Amino acid sequence: MNEFELIARYFARPVRERQGVGDDCALIDVGDRTLAVTTDLLTERTHFFPGVDPASLGHKALAVNLSDLAAAGARPRCFLLSLSLPRPDPDWLQAFSNGMFELAAREGCELIGGDTTRVADVADHPGPLTICITAIGEVERGCLRGRGGARAGDDLWVSGQLGDAALAVAHAKGRVRLDEAAARACRRRLDWPQPRVSLGLALRRLATAAIDVSDGLLGDLGHMLERSGVGASVRAGDVPRSDTVRGVEPELQRRCVLAGGDDYELLFTASPAQREAVAGVGRDCCTAITMIGTMTSEPGLRLVGDPGFDATLQGFDHFAGASGA
Ligand code: ADP
Ligand code: MG
Repeated sequence: MNEFELIARYFARPVRERQGVGDDCALIDVGDRTLAVTTDLLTERTHFFPGVDPASLGHKALAVNLSDLAAAGARPRCFLLSLSLPRPDPDWLQAFSNGMFELAAREGCELIGGDTTRVADVADHPGPLTICITAIGEVERGCLRGRGGARAGDDLWVSGQLGDAALAVAHAKGRVRLDEAAARACRRRLDWPQPRVSLGLALRRLATAAIDVSDGLLGDLGHMLERSGVGASVRAGDVPRSDTVRGVEPELQRRCVLAGGDDYELLFTASPAQREAVAGVGRDCCTAITMIGTMTSEPGLRLVGDPGFDATLQGFDHFAGASGA
C-alpha cells in the first residue's frame, strides 16, 4: 500500500465542502468568499537533517505550505504552527521564529495559533523534532483551479529549475561529490525554497490546472493526470535544470530532475492560445517558466527524447516498499 492508496482507502470521504482530500488545498466556501486550506508536516530525519539551520527550517516549514496555496492560486492570509520539540533552546527558537516570520511578512500572512508540546526522549536521546503548519489563503470564486482541470491539447509548463534540492540531498549522503560552490547553491535550494505565490496568483485566469512539485515531477504530474483524466507527453530534455545538475552523470541527473522532490516549483497547464500571455506572466513575476510538454487524450505519461529513461522512476512516496496489504 503506497502513501496515496493509504489516504484514498482510509481518509478520502465525500465532503460537503467545495473540495476535500486530493488536491493541494481543500476549499471552503464562507459567504461570498472561498478559503484554501493546506497542511504540511516536517519531521526530523525524514524531511530535514538533524542540526539544520533553524532559520531555514522556520522558512521552509511555512514555504512548503505557501507553495500549496500558490498551486491553488490562493492569496496567503494566515497560518497555524504546531511544534513538538525535544528541548526548548532559546537560540534555536529565536532563529526558527525569525526565519518563519521573515517569509510571513514578505507574503503578507500572520500566525494566528498553533500548539506546542515536548517530545519525550527515545532511548536517552532527544526525540525527533516535528513541525506542522496549516496555512489558509483566499481564492477568487471565479478562479477555482486545482489539479483536475487539464485538457487534452493544453501546454504543460513548469517554473524555475528542477533537481537542485535532490542533488543537495545526494551530496549530503555521499552519493555524489560536488565542488563547494555547487554544493552550497544546491543546498540553498533545498533549505530555502521560494514558494511561487505571485506566479500562482497571476496564473489565476490562465492556468487550467496546477500542482506544486514537492515530491518529484513525475509523481506530481501523475496526480494531475489522474485528477484531470488526461495523459501527457513530456520532452524530458526540455525540463529546466541548473548547470550543476546538468554536470552530473545522466542517471543521477534524470533521477534528480524527474523524481527528485523538494523543488517547490509550479507545474501547470494552459491552452496554447494563451502561450504569449503565460510567457508574459513569467516575465512580470521574474520567474523563468518553461514549456515541457503537451497534455494528451491518450492516458498515461510518455517521456520523449530520453532513450535512457527508466519507466520505474517515480515521485517520492513515504510508504514505497513498506509492508502492509
Ligand atoms: P501535497 O504534496 O500537496 O501536500 P499530497 O499529494 O501529499 O499533497 O496529498 C494528497 C492529498 O491527500 C491532499 O489533498 C492532502 O490534503 C490529502 N491528505 C494527506 N494525508 C491525509 C490524511 N491523513 N487525511 C486526510 N487527507 C490527507
Ligand atoms: Mg502540493
